[in-house]
Formats: sequence, C-alpha cells, structure tokens
Amino acid sequence: MHAMILQELRTPLQWLERPDREPGPHEIRVKVLACGVCRTDLHVVDGVLPDPRVPIIPGHEIVGRIEALGAGVENLRIGERVGIPWLGHTDGTCAYCLMHRENLCDHPVFTGFTRDGGYATAAIADARFSFPLGETGTDQELAPLLCAGLIGWRSLAIAGEGNKLGLYGFGAAAHIVAQVAKWQGRHFYAFTRPGDAHTQTFALSLGATWVGGSDEMPPEPLDAAIIFAPIGPLIPPALKAVRKGGRVVCAGIHMSDIPSFPYEILWEERQILSVANLTRQDGLDFLQVVPQIGIKTRTTRYALQQANQALADLRAGRFEGAAVLIP
Ligand SMILES: [Zn+2]
Ligand SMILES: [Zn+2]
Repeated sequence: MHAMILQELRTPLQWLERPDREPGPHEIRVKVLACGVCRTDLHVVDGVLPDPRVPIIPGHEIVGRIEALGAGVENLRIGERVGIPWLGHTDGTCAYCLMHRENLCDHPVFTGFTRDGGYATAAIADARFSFPLGETGTDQELAPLLCAGLIGWRSLAIAGEGNKLGLYGFGAAAHIVAQVAKWQGRHFYAFTRPGDAHTQTFALSLGATWVGGSDEMPPEPLDAAIIFAPIGPLIPPALKAVRKGGRVVCAGIHMSDIPSFPYEILWEERQILSVANLTRQDGLDFLQVVPQIGIKTRTTRYALQQANQALADLRAGRFEGAAVLIP
C-alpha cells in the first residue's frame, strides 16, 4: 500500500510505501475509494491536539470497499462499501461507555490520529465502528458525511429545537448541516469571514435566510448558534446573537483561546457547549436520514498525492464545501 504519511509534526506529508497488513480480530481492511479532508487533519498536522502520535496517516472520512476480514467479523462482508469515521474504537467498559456516551470514552482510538487513517490506498478499521454505506451516491460525495456531516448532525441535536439557527464558518460541516436544518423546517443564518462574498453566495444558494460577516449581528435574535470555525473570539459575538436561553455550540475539537467577555452576554440562561466526537448511534441515525434529505455535498477533488495541496487550500479557504482525496 501507499500513503501520505505525517512523519513529523508541522512538516509536509510524505508519499511512502508501507507493507500491506492483514486485519486482526474484529478488523477489516478496505481499499480506500475516497477520503475527505477535515479541518481536524490540519490540527493533527499542526500538533495542536493533545498527545499527538507520529508517524501517522491522517484521514477520518474514509469511504472504502472491504477486501479482507479479520476473525470474528460477522456484520460486514467482502466487497461491501463502508464508511470509517473519526471514532475508531472505544473500550466499552469505562463509565462513559456504560452510560451510552462512548463519544467521551476514557480510552478511545481515533482514526487518522491515534490509528492510521485514510490518506492511503488501503486502511484497517474496527468492523464494529464502521458503517455500511450501500451503493447509492458516489464515493466522493459521501466522504464528507463521515465527519463534517456526522459532527454537524450531533451539533444540531445539541443546539436544541430552535427554529432560527446561526452557523459560524460556512465550510464542509455547515453546508451539510444547513441542508439538514432546512429539511427539518428551520431557518439558518450563515456567518462567514467578513467580506467573503463567495461563501455568502454559496450559503444563499443553499437557502440561507440571511448571510453576513462574523462581525455582523443577525437581523433578529437566534435560538442557537453553532460555531464550526476554530476561532475562540467568535464565542462572544455568537452569545450576543442568541436570544435569552439560547445556546452556542462549539463543534470543533480545537479552538483558539476565548477572549474574556462581560457576564451580561451569558446571563439569562444562555449556554456555551462543546461537541466531542460521535457515537455509533449518531452515525446510524444520520446515515439513515441522508437519503430522505437528499443531501448534496459540494466537493473539490484532489489526487491522494496532492494531500498537502488540499490541506493548504483548506487552511487558506480556497474552496467551498469539502476537499476529497481520491487514490
Ligand atoms: Zn469507554
Ligand atoms: Zn473531522
């Protein structure tokens, strides 16, 4: 197999050959068909997540076809198309797993961070944490659903039932969540980098009620806001944008520091929450409604060997929607 490998933090990925590995008990090996590029991959490369591990193959939005099964795999078969997400494994025994909050597991394994991911021609995954994808939809358009879509789905649930939803940072996750929110009958308000007319036009094309810069206030108070941009200074303006009792949900794993702010913008039972990882149930629930919603992902295709370019373009905001690597 070949892969784009992070040999040292904060250095470009290197195209290297690695020996093929046989799947162990409860594992599958897939031929990678597509792998989405997530902002968290930038955080992996930059070494800003706790306990980074190198060398590592990044990538946790994997669409693959099973080519080998390890012992004890019963729910999947050779030739089946599957999705492999960020949550790669949990211990199943810690207090969080036992309270059905496996997203908070004390001993998790994360795809593309603590186990090798999908910036490769092949990948090994735990069968119990992989999702059957069926044959509807192209590999390229499905890939972003496996993190951007899933985290967006979980963030939307945590944001609550409100009708007026703010989305700060209109990239891979927000453009999917916007479609889910519309399908649920909600209105969304898209906040972009100030002056980013391109992204604002994109948000309007998906049915935004209002678009503006993150330095602007919406025309009416919001019920909730989800912050996808990894920018802590967005929290105070988002708090100001939500109504009494409103929620501000931080969807990223890493965010820059939050500046201090006057208590009065949190007062009146406004809440700030974070979303961590996903549960397998999130994945099953989300993938079940995807066909009903008819989600259309906007993707930009890169060859696997162009992974460094894809990461640079993501960092610079040079495309709308999501980047996807194709081996
Ligand atoms: Zn656990
Ligand atoms: Zn991700």
